[in-house]
Amino acid sequence: MTDATLPADNPLAQPSSLPYQLPDFAAIRTEHLRPAIDAGLAQQRAEWEAVASSTEAPTVANTLDALERSGQLLDRVETVFGTLVSSAGTDELRDIESEYAPVLAAHQDAFWLDERIYTRLEQVQAAGVQDDQTAWVLQRYLTDFVRAGILLDEDDKETLRTLNGQITALETEFAQQVVAGMEAAAVHVTEPELLAGLAEDAVSALAQAAADRGQDGHLVTFQLPTAQALVAQAGDRRLREQVFTASVTRGTGVDAASDTREVIVALAAKRAERARLLGYDHHAAYVAGGGTARTTEAINTMLGRLAAPAVRNARAEGAELAEALASEQPGAELAAWDWAYYADRVRQQRYAVDDAALRPYLELDQVIGDGVFYAAGRLYGLTFTEREDLAGYADGVRVWEVFEADGTGLGLFVGDYYAREGKRGGAWMHNLVDASDLLGHRAVVVNNLNITRPAAGQPTLLTWDEVITAFHEFGHALHGLFAAGRYPSFSGTNVPRDFVEYPSQVNEMWAWHPEVIASFARHHQTGEVLPAETLDRLRDSQSYGAGFATTEYLAAAMLDQAWHQLTPEQVPTDAAAVEAFEAQALAAVRLDYPLVPPRYRSTYFNHTFGGGYDAGYYSYIWSEVLDADTVEWFRQDAASDGDGGLNRAAGQRFREALLSRGHTRDPLASYRDLRGRDAVIDPLLKRRGLHS
Ligand SMILES: [Zn+2]
Repeated sequence: MTDATLPADNPLAQPSSLPYQLPDFAAIRTEHLRPAIDAGLAQQRAEWEAVASSTEAPTVANTLDALERSGQLLDRVETVFGTLVSSAGTDELRDIESEYAPVLAAHQDAFWLDERIYTRLEQVQAAGVQDDQTAWVLQRYLTDFVRAGILLDEDDKETLRTLNGQITALETEFAQQVVAGMEAAAVHVTEPELLAGLAEDAVSALAQAAADRGQDGHLVTFQLPTAQALVAQAGDRRLREQVFTASVTRGTGVDAASDTREVIVALAAKRAERARLLGYDHHAAYVAGGGTARTTEAINTMLGRLAAPAVRNARAEGAELAEALASEQPGAELAAWDWAYYADRVRQQRYAVDDAALRPYLELDQVIGDGVFYAAGRLYGLTFTEREDLAGYADGVRVWEVFEADGTGLGLFVGDYYAREGKRGGAWMHNLVDASDLLGHRAVVVNNLNITRPAAGQPTLLTWDEVITAFHEFGHALHGLFAAGRYPSFSGTNVPRDFVEYPSQVNEMWAWHPEVIASFARHHQTGEVLPAETLDRLRDSQSYGAGFATTEYLAAAMLDQAWHQLTPEQVPTDAAAVEAFEAQALAAVRLDYPLVPPRYRSTYFNHTFGGGYDAGYYSYIWSEVLDADTVEWFRQDAASDGDGGLNRAAGQRFREALLSRGHTRDPLASYRDLRGRDAVIDPLLKRRGLHS
């Protein structure tokens, strides 16, 4: 198959000739994207058709391998496009994204509902497959075809296509309303006395936000979760109450244009209908079946077990905060909007952790080179050479070549650490090239953070949270770089959603390792190592507030499950019932502690109703069970001479059993290979102070 429909001067027409097929960002322009996507779609459809209509007897080579080889042009353009729209987005790129979302969804349906391909894969399996990896991948394909509806009759397939389209449209509508709701919730402050207690730069940021909207005074703008950062700093109780109330009422009809309740009940109903069509009790059962959790019962049991001790801890924290409030304002009763403010003060008093004083020890280049890369060297023998000759897609993006201990090239690591106009919030990792033996590709992976760029000539000093994030994202990067499988779509981080956070969470442990800290946490001017006493206080302070954090997370995870454990008949039909449903769902699992509302209420729960983490918000703590159990393995089983597991043998074992495997076999089998048994929950309970 050729890229005949794409002009040869389009830089996406052929695989990049740069090392490791790094996309040639310097040559790619926005006008290259649409024609490349169109050509990529047409090419992959033709490749699928060739498999589907083949008259040869089906074999691994002419069926499974052919499918895994298909779509390389589309893949090239989608990864480049996804990178640009996420990290250097423009209105034009976002328009292309909206335009193609339904086209790409229909492209997927065209594949997964093609019975000719499914039948050929069945025949390959029936003929017998020799090696374990191919057998596993083949079985995954067949299972995914069934999950996507291949066994339905034509009428039901048509119903399914319609439902898929409606669900995608509702998710997009929800996500857009949530953004509108955040904007509508902004609190306009016209009385300056309400700003008491806020730092000067915070006040000027609020004034700037007001000016940006052409308003006078000050404007408090919103972030997605229930907790708004400003509430922790606001000394005036009235402002705390105002901001908190605006936050938790988002989407409930206080602003008609961003009322999400209609969409929620419609979406819950459509998802329940689709699950029934596919033979499941409800949407949550369908999602669980695609993950390592397997069943809704397993998820309910695990979340339920954590709920009671989490709320008990939160209540104990609340009692302490109530005292702190009463000592200042006798007779005053602690309200939900007081929580963050007093928690911050208790934390500072008790642990004397001064975030600002820490930052000079956390300079970006040192954190990456002497911390993140250093740990990877000690564990895996990796070395990193910056390739200034290779260009990223934007100013400040850096490229490193990664080498094995014996000097063999492993892949490329792209670091995009700075915030910029048009870049989405948060931190994430993605692949530009998936490692695959079939295609002869090594991995090219990207880490994104959103660190504020300092003034020219100034060093980039991080917060401790940003240091942890850098180690976390690099854990995903290692999962991508070490991928050693045959098939690209089962490579590296292409694992189930409730497994993918596990290796990245594990990698966070190295930020705390004494030898690693001594290497990277040095004062950027004096070179002095972070004092041990400061480090101890920092470590101790991390356990503070676990009751709150676990409770607000579990409440959201349970809400997500509750909405999706409904049959079509059980979904409320009246949009006005959304809040009552939510209250009842939280009460049923005893997570209805009014001082700690869910991390996201239904009406702005973008993970679940915007799509992506629907019935899947449990994944974070599900992965953390494996993470905490593995941290113990490093510290106990794999440690040697008190090194806490920071050695080549431990790294090699983790790489071999786990990181290199991706989805080339059952991820839980990889886990058992590493640990010699299934994961146990005790280390997680200990870490979060949840032992009953
Ligand atoms: Zn992650």
